[in-house]
Amino acid sequence: MQGAFIEHERMLSSLDTQSFEIRKASDFTNKMDGLILPGGESTVIGKLLRELELMEPIRKAILGGLPVMGTCAGMILLAKNVIGGEAHLACMDITAERNAYGRQLASFSTEAEFGGVGKIPMVFIRAPYVVKAAADVEVLAEVDGKIIAARQKNMLVCAFHPELTKDTSVHSFFLSTCNG
Ligand code: GLN
Repeated sequence: MQGAFIEHERMLSSLDTQSFEIRKASDFTNKMDGLILPGGESTVIGKLLRELELMEPIRKAILGGLPVMGTCAGMILLAKNVIGGEAHLACMDITAERNAYGRQLASFSTEAEFGGVGKIPMVFIRAPYVVKAAADVEVLAEVDGKIIAARQKNMLVCAFHPELTKDTSVHSFFLSTCNG
């Protein structure tokens, strides 16, 4: 409904995976094998999820095991605790700090190891990072000692935008956890 969703759709189709957008409650069917919460503005996406009565159905589905990947604002939406903002779906046992890099370093690119697949390019745009994670949260990537990708059960989050590079590793990783 807001943010960098077209780039995710392109990435998925380059991996021969069909996708559709969820813009209203009736779009959220049981026809999906996984869900991506894109980057954008978590406050705007959270507000729309509430207004469109999508918050509870999505929350229930995630807690019921639907594989989900949250990128950037999507990480904030999934976090149970949020510093500098409010919690939204509140499904994952992490504390995410919004705009954690401050104004000076609002946007930057780097390369780092991701989840045992090797070094990948990472684009950060007013990104959050994980300041605290429960014991069963697996850290998938760190930059400068900060957790910027992690997973817990069916939930995968990254602070960067994997859909804004040509590298398909993160999406492939996520797809390997989906049901279809
Ligand atoms: N700063 C945004 C937020 O707080 C996230 C930025 C992004 O998704 N690129 O939601």
